[in-house]
Amino acid sequence: MTTDDLLARHRAVLPSWMMLYYADPIELVSGSGRRVTDAQGRTYLDFFGGVLTNSIGYDIPEIREAVERQLRTGIVHTSTIYLIRQQVELAEKIARLSGIPDARVFFTNSGTEANEAALLVATNFRRSHQVLAVRNSYHGRSYAAMGVTGNRNWSVSGLNPLQVAWLHSGDRVRGLLSRLPEADRIDAAVEDLREVLATQTAGDVACLIAEPIQGVGGFVAPPDGLFAAWKKVLDEHGILLVSDEVQTGWGRTGEHFWGYQAHGVTPDLLTFAKGVGNGFALAGVVGRADVLDSVSGISFSTFGGNPLSAAAGNAVLDYLRDHDLQANAARVGAILADGLRAAVAGLDRVAEVRGRGLMLGVEFVRPGTTEPDPVLTTRVFEACRAGGLLAGKGGLHGNVLRMGPPLTLTEDEAREGLAILVEAIRSCVAEAV
Ligand code: PLP
Repeated sequence: MTTDDLLARHRAVLPSWMMLYYADPIELVSGSGRRVTDAQGRTYLDFFGGVLTNSIGYDIPEIREAVERQLRTGIVHTSTIYLIRQQVELAEKIARLSGIPDARVFFTNSGTEANEAALLVATNFRRSHQVLAVRNSYHGRSYAAMGVTGNRNWSVSGLNPLQVAWLHSGDRVRGLLSRLPEADRIDAAVEDLREVLATQTAGDVACLIAEPIQGVGGFVAPPDGLFAAWKKVLDEHGILLVSDEVQTGWGRTGEHFWGYQAHGVTPDLLTFAKGVGNGFALAGVVGRADVLDSVSGISFSTFGGNPLSAAAGNAVLDYLRDHDLQANAARVGAILADGLRAAVAGLDRVAEVRGRGLMLGVEFVRPGTTEPDPVLTTRVFEACRAGGLLAGKGGLHGNVLRMGPPLTLTEDEAREGLAILVEAIRSCVAEAV
């Protein structure tokens, strides 16, 4: 079966809203280190890591061996009604890493489900359906997780099971707060929160869910310290803070292990996914014991924290620690960010190079304005692919090129990818109208 046949069959059987990257979609068949190979034998340097999912790299012996060891036990899946050693060990590690005192961990299979679980326990704990979310956010594609997603492009349902009031994001390029000097944006965001609470809610709000750096939204970072300033107000009302760390966790931002740490405050609940499984379906919510234990019934999860995913998760966390990948993300990310900033300096089609560690975005605009240019972005994205580099796209207007490579990216690979990226930007900008 050719890739074209596969594409035709994909289109015939999967729903129309399941988008594929690239005009000529790619079928990946294998990977090694930071490189992936398609069905035609073309190899690409992967600067997106399956949407920041592949944190360690492809076919890494330590991860493969841990999973193979688990497979050899014959326990591929047994459901969580039995004691699972790998699951308990992983929960202990994540509880400790979370920074939340005496934390509990509930495992799910995707980031969506993790947010769904966080919203479930938060609304139950507070006995309220009202939540606060942030404009330009992405939290997943289930009923409630989509309900707190502030990006119309990704909302496949316009219906919402929750009563949501929307806060401004800390975007520096667009949105109301972008017009303010950096030093004033936290005060303005707090004023916005107080006003939203007073005008759009009855006061008994369950939680505020927010990403420390908006991922799908185009790697938009609120000002450092915003979560702490928000939390002061939230604490006055008993409202919980949920930090969605699906993209920002596991040391990706270099400076910190979690994105929330840039904000100087610990959330009540934290949701995680993507990088902890390095390709295996592993996610969950970690948080305050009184909140997670507040659910009165009994429950279980057929797949959440299953032995195979948990084995992968344990191996990933050990690998991250043993190889100090957070430090690598900071070091190699700085090479990429500095190189990109130097290359685009003076280009009136680039509004900003932003991000932290190995989570970097380039925002493209119409000449000398902040008007988004998704056409140019797509051209650069396709040119990178033609040059052998996979990247991501994002932003409310589809005008942000996103880089989120495995945290094991070497300096040589960073320079190799940077050269492809810079050439793609230069040639596409030169041809752009
Ligand atoms: N939250 C954030 C911040 C995400 O970026 C995503 C996915 O990209 C999700 C939640 C949903 O995760 P999943 O696709 O694993 O359901």
